[in-house]
Amino acid sequence: MSEQWIADRMHHIDASGIRKVFDLAANLKDPINLSIGQPHFDTPEPIKQALKDAVDEGKNAYSQTQGIKPLLEMIQSGVDEEYGQADRKAFVTSGTSGGLMLALCTLVNPGDEVIAFDPWFVMYKHLTTLAGGTVKSISTYPDFKIPLDKVREAITPKTKVILFNSPSNPTGHVATREEVEGLAKIAAEHDIALISDEIYRTFCYDQEFVSPAEFNDQTIVIDGFSKSHSMTGWRVGWCHGPQHVIQQMIKLQQFTFVCAPQPVQWAACEAWKFDISHFVEEYKQKRDLLLSELGDDFEVHGAGGAFYAFVKAPWGTGSEFVKKVIENNLLIIPGNVFSDQDTHFRISYAASEETIKRGAAVLRDLASQTW
Ligand code: PMP
Repeated sequence: MSEQWIADRMHHIDASGIRKVFDLAANLKDPINLSIGQPHFDTPEPIKQALKDAVDEGKNAYSQTQGIKPLLEMIQSGVDEEYGQADRKAFVTSGTSGGLMLALCTLVNPGDEVIAFDPWFVMYKHLTTLAGGTVKSISTYPDFKIPLDKVREAITPKTKVILFNSPSNPTGHVATREEVEGLAKIAAEHDIALISDEIYRTFCYDQEFVSPAEFNDQTIVIDGFSKSHSMTGWRVGWCHGPQHVIQQMIKLQQFTFVCAPQPVQWAACEAWKFDISHFVEEYKQKRDLLLSELGDDFEVHGAGGAFYAFVKAPWGTGSEFVKKVIENNLLIIPGNVFSDQDTHFRISYAASEETIKRGAAVLRDLASQTW
């Protein structure tokens, strides 16, 4: 086998940061795990039942590429009710990741620039690379707010897309109405596509969720059932945006993902109707618990939504501190996996109260040591 077989784009995809974490973790027996980016509860029973029923009823073939009619109608009427924008059209995707990939491949030409906010969700860089573009990252440290002036400065004739994610993975920052409106208007003024990854929109604990689609009717919104309904392995999400973009995305879906798994789409109809407010309340309590357990020993900003806190390392670089933490049997993720800088670490509080308390105790102990 020849090394030349591997396309150049693969060499731009660097998985070494997260691999190092897995290598360190491989030797641990029964670690305290605060690294996982998915809900700690199982998929609710009625949704599981709907999946089993769909399989038993033989709903196992391909569906229309844009999704089964009942699900599509539910999503479209939800979108119409929320935004009332006649040109805003929805379709069903293979997870939020599927929607992100289709959006970037539909919008980005080779050489185009995509603005993303540092720290970013890990996929953004790699999906941009896949589409032939490059990420221009804008630092949001130390408080993770969207710096609108820096966005204006970062725009060049090559800027094609702004990728926005609130509530954010990894910081949990929930952008305010002013931040969101400001960003939406900058994108509109410069005729730049705005992609809004809203996968955590239901998980907001202190303030309302605001979508840029409210202020900019050209916004492409990507969302999914993975986090809200604990369906990460089922691969279903949805997307809505201006019709001419959505049509191109559907065309690409037809020749890539084909469709989201059909039985899963029937289960998603059940999920759409399922009330998840008790999960949100539980996560709010877990967030409160984590912050009070960390106390004053750590600098934390954001943490108003999703289920992550992005915490400044009390000594050393982010990865030096995390190495020590993992040696003490606690799994967390170093911030440089999500960032150009190596100063923080990500904790996921999608875990039991006991695990959160044990994890915070390890962190407090290590914070008081010097290296
Ligand atoms: N966007 C963000 C910000 C995420 O955190 C994740 C999952 N970790 C995704 C997208 C991908 O979600 P899905 O499982 O729906 O593809």
